[in-house]
Amino acid sequence: MENTTFVEISSLAIAHNLKLFRSLVGAKVLLSCCVKANAYGHGIVESANLMIKNGADWLNVNALYEAEALRNAGITAPIYVMGYVPLKDLHKISELDLRLVVYNLETLVELEKIGKPVNVHLKLETGNNRQGIRDEDLSVFKEFFVNTKFIQLEGTATHFANIEDTLDHSFAMSQLEKFKKMSDNLNPRMRHCANSAAAMLFPETYFDMVRIGISAYGMWPSAETRISVQQESKHEISLKPALTWKTLVTQIKKVPTGEYIGYGCTCRTSRDSKIAILPVGYYDGYDRELSNKAHVLINGKRAPVRGRVCMNITMVDVTDIPDVKLEDEVVLIGSQGDESISAEQFADWANSINYEVTARINDRIPRYVV
Ligand SMILES: *Cc1c(COP(=O)(O)O)cnc(C)c1O
Repeated sequence: MENTTFVEISSLAIAHNLKLFRSLVGAKVLLSCCVKANAYGHGIVESANLMIKNGADWLNVNALYEAEALRNAGITAPIYVMGYVPLKDLHKISELDLRLVVYNLETLVELEKIGKPVNVHLKLETGNNRQGIRDEDLSVFKEFFVNTKFIQLEGTATHFANIEDTLDHSFAMSQLEKFKKMSDNLNPRMRHCANSAAAMLFPETYFDMVRIGISAYGMWPSAETRISVQQESKHEISLKPALTWKTLVTQIKKVPTGEYIGYGCTCRTSRDSKIAILPVGYYDGYDRELSNKAHVLINGKRAPVRGRVCMNITMVDVTDIPDVKLEDEVVLIGSQGDESISAEQFADWANSINYEVTARINDRIPRYVV
């Protein structure tokens, strides 16, 4: 896999996006960049280094192994763990100097037992109904913090349920009001709730820190967010996508009229065709939904996928593209010449969203910063 398909990350694009968010939030609000899910597929260590170089104050990960990878790479920035850490692994929070989101009393009790100073952030339930502590359960946690010797309530956090899927932000605003009220009751050192969409739309969600994911990588959270920004904000926002996914041509073959291509014989040539074989498939994250639907770029032109995407191989039609040669560069996501294929276009083909598309590019594919 090493040399036949790879991902390039543009350091200029990351720099552009981070500069934009810094200008939105100002100097005093912490910029915390999400590098979970292998940095939305961009490569966790590579991306973390780029984020920090371009002004990120904190990094957010989902799991302990991600935080470990960052520390092993020598990254010393504050790391906030947003996912669940099993009770038996909680000793690593202080050992790796991490901050942890907490929404179970059991977690706090175990951390107290371990007896090392740690900073935690309480996740408050404001309407998403995934992680989070409900208002009526808050008093138990409050009581815990009165008596703890080792645990500092560094922050409160919440997460918006319906900010990117709609042009109507009333639900997000109701969550924000709940968050303020519950946070006031706890009086933490810091508060945070903004994701990319909130950071681009609502300064009143900034508090002490914003947690930026998708848009740090130059992608819009959704078409609705893009429209909302155009309608509601005073600022122009241009994002630069950082990721290009490439592969190469591994065979070019003539396929006469009337022959089938690929598993299931789902595609039959209607003319004498020239087919290029690509060494990527659904194992790599080239979704099987793209079968007979997607395009790739070769020599700056679009080549349609023919037949079903296989586990490691995909076939594309290059009949109309002159001079295709063995090992020519192929772009699966990104630009080539005047053409480009966005993660959003890819997501439409795959019945998915840009978040899932880039996050699913197989972790084993190398990431190069360019
Ligand atoms: C992933 C995540 C974010 C970032 O969301 P984007 O929409 O990618 O900006 C923020 N907060 C939490 C808790 C997350 O899990």
